[in-house]
Amino acid sequence: MLQQILEELAPYQATLVAVSKTKPESAIQTLYDAGQRHFGENRVQELAPKHDHLPKDIHWHLIGHLQSNKVKYIAPFVYMIHSVDSYKLLREINKQAAAQGRSIQCLLQFKIAAEDTKYGFDWTNVVAMLEDETFKQLDHITICGVMGMATFTDDEQQVRAEFQQLRQYFTQLKTQYFSDQPTFKEISMGMSGDYNWALEEGSTMVRIGSLLFGARY
Ligand SMILES: *Cc1c(COP(=O)(O)O)cnc(C)c1O
Repeated sequence: MLQQILEELAPYQATLVAVSKTKPESAIQTLYDAGQRHFGENRVQELAPKHDHLPKDIHWHLIGHLQSNKVKYIAPFVYMIHSVDSYKLLREINKQAAAQGRSIQCLLQFKIAAEDTKYGFDWTNVVAMLEDETFKQLDHITICGVMGMATFTDDEQQVRAEFQQLRQYFTQLKTQYFSDQPTFKEISMGMSGDYNWALEEGSTMVRIGSLLFGARY
């Protein structure tokens, strides 16, 4: 399954983040042995021990909601945080990254689903943050792009429209705020059920769990 997915991603040059939440370390090791290096987890309590036990050259992505008081546990090693959904959280990430003497790559999570999801920015919040005077002083974070989750539905038109919305946010941010930053380049969208549509709508990173590891119970 890994090879098949990688072949589908290749024409788009998209990155595969293998979402290993709830799965045992042995399952991660198996994909690692097959060459996979990017893995995603949605809970700090699960990510930290997996990082401790597994090979150190894994790139760990945090993809689920992150509470500010837990940032310190992943700041030493996390490769990218996809789920930055508030200015407060971003400031805490910056602070903990500074304490570790490193910079942490972050994506801004947008609300794009019709479902009443709790987490994610809307355009107004993001603009307020980017135009805040103190934003420029956050020098231990790198904003690498955007992330979003489409509505859980098989209505292709709706899912595509939501991905298009995210891509539009990305383009607007790139033009208005990040035009001089080549590292602002990622659109993290697409999961097991909708990654083909996401790729066609411009995804650069897909987050795939159940298709790779089997269903979660
Ligand atoms: C669980 C999860 C995924 C992967 O979902 P699958 O449907 O198993 O591919 C992707 N993104 C986020 C944020 C998740 O929590």
